[in-house]
Amino acid sequence: MRRVYLDNAATEKMLPCVKQAMLDAMDAELGNAAALHYEGWNAKKLIEEARVRVARLINAESEEIIFTSGGTEANNTVMEIFRGKRIVTSSVEHPSVLEAARARAGELVVLPVDRWGRVDTVDIEKEAKIADLVSVMLANNELGTIEPIKEYVKCCKKYNTYVHTDATQAVGKIKVDVKELGVDYLSFSAHKIGGPIGAGVLYVKNGVPYRNLMYGGKQEEGRRAGTSNILGIVGLGAAARWCWEEWSCRKWAEVTKLKNELKRRILAEVPYSSCNSPDEGCLPGILNMSFQAAEGESIQLYLDAEGICVSTGSACAAGDIKPSHVMMAARHDAEVAHSSIRLSLGLDTTKEDIERVMAVLPGIIRKLQGMSTIKVGA
Ligand code: PMP
Repeated sequence: MRRVYLDNAATEKMLPCVKQAMLDAMDAELGNAAALHYEGWNAKKLIEEARVRVARLINAESEEIIFTSGGTEANNTVMEIFRGKRIVTSSVEHPSVLEAARARAGELVVLPVDRWGRVDTVDIEKEAKIADLVSVMLANNELGTIEPIKEYVKCCKKYNTYVHTDATQAVGKIKVDVKELGVDYLSFSAHKIGGPIGAGVLYVKNGVPYRNLMYGGKQEEGRRAGTSNILGIVGLGAAARWCWEEWSCRKWAEVTKLKNELKRRILAEVPYSSCNSPDEGCLPGILNMSFQAAEGESIQLYLDAEGICVSTGSACAAGDIKPSHVMMAARHDAEVAHSSIRLSLGLDTTKEDIERVMAVLPGIIRKLQGMSTIKVGA
């Protein structure tokens, strides 16, 4: 039976056009993009085509696009630029922002969030006065919450404070326009938009500070050393082109209807369930739910045995028994955090998939609640 894949926020299936573009590149006569010969120029041409496509997707200039190995490297590069400086970030960031900032900041301020994972603009305003960099994600990977980055930028620009946003979960799902947002730095990743794993983007606005994370060759105009990942970049370019030409945001908006139906049915049919994702201002595909007295990892394993794939919190934290830092920061108690699962729908999720989940989830939860030492409804 077809598996029901509800872990799209961890990684999306590769788009057929991406696979084809990568296969074509494998067959082409491509050399090292830094070399001055036919094969080198061929490779360089493909990279520059991809750069134009990526820039167009987020309304950047092509020289503002630096190709990286993914969102993690892009985020680390931004923190490297502000090494030793005062960095302000939020408590629900991805570890590639939080840990990278911890490792490099001279002074670090980690702002609290509300129940949905949003930072208070008043806190941003207060901190922006004395910060060198404010870094808040555009959308949260565990809850789906979209942050009002434009408002944060407004506060920061009063004090000429630089702003970075990790847009890894947002690009392709909602409109992301760097000029409209007004950010100075923005990161995202190919494998979250139907591209290959191992390629990503750092947008660096013209004229803002920059420092290399990696030194060596002069690739990416000397800003990121290392032989260019030609296949990854071609795949990323193809994914960006697809998102632009096929109006992926509109397609994703359709997914919201299915997600809302799934949420409605879970709340109605599964005992002691609650929703941790906001009703408004949420990514189309992400639904985070908790089930009293049922442990997230157990739910995940039982669902997996039924051919249904979900995750507990962030995939990057899998195997880590600490409750999700995002759920804890969003002021849930440890028990609610431990009992949460993330269902992340994709463009290929169907009504039948939702039926498959609803055919087994209530039974799994009842069984786990029956086995638990915690009294439900207490
Ligand atoms: N930021 C966010 C919000 C993410 O969800 C992820 C992927 N889990 C990353 C950064 C890291 O991206 P990559 O896997 O490309 O390193």
